[in-house]
Amino acid sequence: MPSKKPMLEASVLSFDDTSVAFASKSNFQLRKTFLIYSCMDKNWLVKLGTFFIKLFIFLHFPIKKLIKTTLFEQFCGGENIEECNSTIKPLYDNKIRAILDYSVGLVETEKNYEKITNELLKTIDNAETNDGISFSVFKVSSIAPPEILEKVQSEIELTKDEKAAYERVRERMNIICKRAFEKKVSVLVDAEESWIQDTIDTLVYGMMAKYNKEITTVYNTFQMYRKDMLQNLKDATENAHEEGYLLGVKLVRGAYMEKERQKAHEENYCEPIFDSKEDTDWHFDAAITYIVEHVDTISVCIGTHNEVSCKHLVSLMEKHNIVRANKHFHFAQLLGMSDNISYSLAKAGYNVSKYVPYGPVEDVLPFLFNHANENTSVEDQAHREFALIKRELLRRQNG
Ligand SMILES: Cc1cc2nc3c(=O)[nH]c(=O)nc-3n(C[C@H](O)[C@H](O)[C@H](O)COP(=O)(O)OP(=O)(O)OC[C@H]3O[C@@H](n4cnc5c(N)ncnc54)[C@H](O)[C@@H]3O)c2cc1C
Repeated sequence: MPSKKPMLEASVLSFDDTSVAFASKSNFQLRKTFLIYSCMDKNWLVKLGTFFIKLFIFLHFPIKKLIKTTLFEQFCGGENIEECNSTIKPLYDNKIRAILDYSVGLVETEKNYEKITNELLKTIDNAETNDGISFSVFKVSSIAPPEILEKVQSEIELTKDEKAAYERVRERMNIICKRAFEKKVSVLVDAEESWIQDTIDTLVYGMMAKYNKEITTVYNTFQMYRKDMLQNLKDATENAHEEGYLLGVKLVRGAYMEKERQKAHEENYCEPIFDSKEDTDWHFDAAITYIVEHVDTISVCIGTHNEVSCKHLVSLMEKHNIVRANKHFHFAQLLGMSDNISYSLAKAGYNVSKYVPYGPVEDVLPFLFNHANENTSVEDQAHREFALIKRELLRRQNG
């Protein structure tokens, strides 16, 4: 374990100017956002609200319009790709591009895996012709039975039907990545729980070997809260170099910390996640440094709301004379979050994107709520957002 802080580079870029962060929001929109975050700032209210919203949706209560103009509008792009255009346009006016994320928690059936694959192909086709879109994105578990991914990882022999199902997963992966390659659209593959991630890695590296020879079509995600991840990144870089393809890296801290700890505890194995946030932060920033030093092989998208890490990459790019708009370097945040980072970086000329979840209200919101409840960092983020919006409202009031 490293004993000291990584050599963090100082940056002149500031994320403190809330007038830049919220320039595109009218006073009315800002007050609405303030209300949403002030509710989210009270954890008990979030839990209560989540319960009732799920219940009302389940009972088909007529509250869809209310939800759509508040929570849904804050965190989602629309119910379908066309509806997302009204979110993509104002982002793109501010030089921020969108990553449309079909975030639906559908029942796990072969029919739904096909449905999601077809929707992903649509997002790729749409990205080809829409300059306001930077990447496509998907989760392997949305097109594959998670229990089969887990069995493959545990080297448990698959039944004949399971083998056929796994073969269909590989076909779906190939259809998606091939389409992305043909349309010259890059595709991010999200990282998931450690007990299925090795299988996901194998599938993704197979695609990279096929479609990343000249341009970085496929990106894998590295969760830096994992103890083995910096070494994994180094191994993946060496493999890519040896096999002659480009490594696409999405760098994140990791969203499943509580779930990971719980499973390790229940099944009595060593936790794969670092013991402290400081260790995760250290490894995230060390990975950024490593990537900048291997820019010939790696293209990167850092998915983070952490200001220190964003500034670290900015400074390293300056130090290595990498132009801000270099197509191998991207920053990404979630829609409705950390606009101070996204808008400031975009204004300064860096490549910035927002993950824009979309899909039918009744399918997307329960999925986002479950995810938010599992990930305790969402709470800290809500506090940060609340403070920023409060500051901007005060600034506007004082002229
Ligand atoms: C564009 C984008 C794409 C993303 N894609 C994925 C994805 O594919 N897969 C995925 O898993 N997540 C993904 N995430 C979520 C991400 O992993 C983080 O959960 C989230 O962004 C918060 O981390 P941060 O770097 O933004 O900020 P911070 O608030 O600085 O970091 C919070 C994170 O630090 C880590 N942490 C907190 N406490 C501890 C502790 N005690 N010990 C060890 N580590 C700790 C956790 O990872 C926590 O989420 C994505 C996020 C973004 C913005």
